[in-house]
Amino acid sequence: MVTKYPAEPFRIKSIEYVKMNTREDREKLMKECGYNPFFLHSEDVYIDLLTDSGTTAMSDRQWAGLMMGDEAYAGSRNWYHLESIVKEYFGFKYVVPTHQGRGAENILSMIAIKPGQLVPGNMYFTTTRYHQEANGGIFKDIIIDEAHDPVIDLPFKGNVDLNKLQALIDEYGAHQIAYVCVAITVNLAGGQPVSMQNLRETYELCHKHGIKVFIDATRCVENAYFIQEREPGYANKTIKEIVLEQFKYSDGCTMSGKKDCLTNIGGFLALNDEDMFTEAKELVVVFEGMPSYGGMTGRDMEAMAIGITESVDQAYIEHRIKQIRYLGDRLLAAGVPIVEPIGGHGIFLDATRFCAHLPQEQMPAQALTAALYVESGVRGVERGIVSAGRDVNTGKDHIPKLETVRLTVPRRVYTYAHMDVVADGCISLYNKRETIRGLKWVYEPKRLRFFTGRFEQV
Ligand SMILES: *Cc1c(COP(=O)(O)O)cnc(C)c1O
Repeated sequence: MVTKYPAEPFRIKSIEYVKMNTREDREKLMKECGYNPFFLHSEDVYIDLLTDSGTTAMSDRQWAGLMMGDEAYAGSRNWYHLESIVKEYFGFKYVVPTHQGRGAENILSMIAIKPGQLVPGNMYFTTTRYHQEANGGIFKDIIIDEAHDPVIDLPFKGNVDLNKLQALIDEYGAHQIAYVCVAITVNLAGGQPVSMQNLRETYELCHKHGIKVFIDATRCVENAYFIQEREPGYANKTIKEIVLEQFKYSDGCTMSGKKDCLTNIGGFLALNDEDMFTEAKELVVVFEGMPSYGGMTGRDMEAMAIGITESVDQAYIEHRIKQIRYLGDRLLAAGVPIVEPIGGHGIFLDATRFCAHLPQEQMPAQALTAALYVESGVRGVERGIVSAGRDVNTGKDHIPKLETVRLTVPRRVYTYAHMDVVADGCISLYNKRETIRGLKWVYEPKRLRFFTGRFEQV
């Protein structure tokens, strides 16, 4: 029987207690950490929706795999296992392991970008753009306009706007484009998917002009689920088949193993071009480790190899997507403004509408994140003007159209009852939203400022 919200397709073998503190405790703690929930001790958080990165619960098979770790400095058997799994599931010729996704982004940016070249992408991601810019690249947003609007409901709201890409090629010339980076799904747009047709057309347009396409594969399994659910012709294909087909329309990918690979650490860069592979291997030894571990332990690599095989299980991915949809549906039913449609890895509260009394300079999403913790013990993360950072040339704040609080759901960790606690907290806060006070900077870091910045109430 197919239910709207399928029950957990697993049973719980090991548990971790979490504690609920008092509202007075949380008020004090939030002030002490400068209204930045990144500074909270995790033990002071009841339900932690800061990120879905590295927060996965591993399966019994993965835990058993840890015992199979071969910690040899070179040539670990777990590396050969992981390499063969990545080739089988992703379809690329060459694999370079890295400690996590940004390690792969760093290497790709170093080998594929010449200073001054453009790197078009379907909305920015924090670490991805950082590495592109650190290597002299200029990020250009080529996502469809609708992705910047929180209320437009589209099945594939993460798609590349081919006209925007064509316009860049016409204006600057193909040689001025380092490569095109396509993220599946689009994290900062609300976990919005990209259709197979759009992947195919983007790839065809690029190849006509000799431009390479690299996929940010971080949530490629979630993207595959949306294709299966929504795109004509894919309903009867398996998730494994869809994942593999997605990568046919690219020249390589960067992967954060901490998301869809169902592990707590790890990543890789995968490629088809032999020369790029040779260069990537030279760099991986400088930044990450030997090309047979890239910063991961043998046991990490084993857990990741097993995690990839589990991630394409139909029951797993359907439960994951629909559990998040359950949370979103409850919020929508109560009138709480969120980014629609509901995406793949979390719910994004629309702080612009939630905190309509606060101007964007007062960082409404950051203020809402702090207030939600105080209200309910739930930790989310700001994805608005604070995360967007400053323009590297002008020094001015980037002004994102989306000012959101991301409530990211870890994989296989929480139950529907936990989602009810989150929904109840958001709803009660929404009912007294005018009490949320704006923030100003006390300390603004120069790089990736959202991680370590500090604020006070205005
Ligand atoms: C997490 C993430 C990355 C970076 O991966 P890390 O493993 O955190 O270094 C890159 N792109 C997207 C879309 C991500 O969500």
